[in-house]
Amino acid sequence: MTERNIVAGSTAAARAAGLTKVYGSGETRVVALAGVDAEFGRGRLTAIMGPSGSGKSTLMHCVAGLDRPTDGRVWLGGTDITGLPDDELTALRRDRVGFVFQAFNLLPTLTALENITLPFELAGRRPDRRAVERVVDAVGLGTRLGHRPGELSGGQQQRVACARALVTMPDVVFADEPTGALDSESSAALLTFLRRSVDELGQTVVMVTHDPTAAAYADRVLFLSDGLLVDEMDAPTSDGVLDRIRTLEKRIRTLEKGVSR
Ligand code: ADP
Repeated sequence: MTERNIVAGSTAAARAAGLTKVYGSGETRVVALAGVDAEFGRGRLTAIMGPSGSGKSTLMHCVAGLDRPTDGRVWLGGTDITGLPDDELTALRRDRVGFVFQAFNLLPTLTALENITLPFELAGRRPDRRAVERVVDAVGLGTRLGHRPGELSGGQQQRVACARALVTMPDVVFADEPTGALDSESSAALLTFLRRSVDELGQTVVMVTHDPTAAAYADRVLFLSDGLLVDEMDAPTSDGVLDRIRTLEKRIRTLEKGVSR
């Protein structure tokens, strides 16, 4: 069996089939996803790229169970979440999914360490000391763990947010433009941390980004355009990703010219 078969088989951490999402109706109708089949391999870092409005966030939100598709199916691990009632979906998200957003979303009155262990509190569980030590070690904040978010740099805050998303060892961590608010040095530290969480802790990360340098940290890049999965790239380099995006944009411009004629 090739690596590709394994990824396509039982080791997918999340999977979408025929995923369609339509917003609004009549004149305001927007097809955000037009039938996307995608797999996110377990223990891998997958980047989702594409022009603004191509459906990246919608795809992530539907696969993460934050939004309901109009049609198609979504599996998280082995669970088909498509028809799950709201309360079961909420519990599954809490127990099996981690989130990182562009705007950190830390609680300002808690220390960095308290923010990291928060998911255990929310689930009414005692923090798993080994899991906490593992992410605390990987996050590399040293003595700053006792500081509140306001006393940390943006990059440090985002590393805390990632550690919080990873501490319960969720099936998948979804990161929506995690480096969007960071300078290049902080971005590199954050992406190195995410990469290490995949390589050393065996975590699964799905990351939406528009930055080819960030995408180059991934094992695989999915390219969306107009709500469709139009391309993918394994073992990406930033130059390779940039080339692919330019080709896609050229194709879109040619199509648009054809339509407007
Ligand atoms: P991306 O993340 O690639 O920028 P999105 O998934 O945010 O793209 O959006 C895809 C399309 O769906 C866009 O045309 C956007 O305007 C539309 N869209 C997204 N969310 C909503 C919503 N809540 N209501 C109406 N249209 C939406």
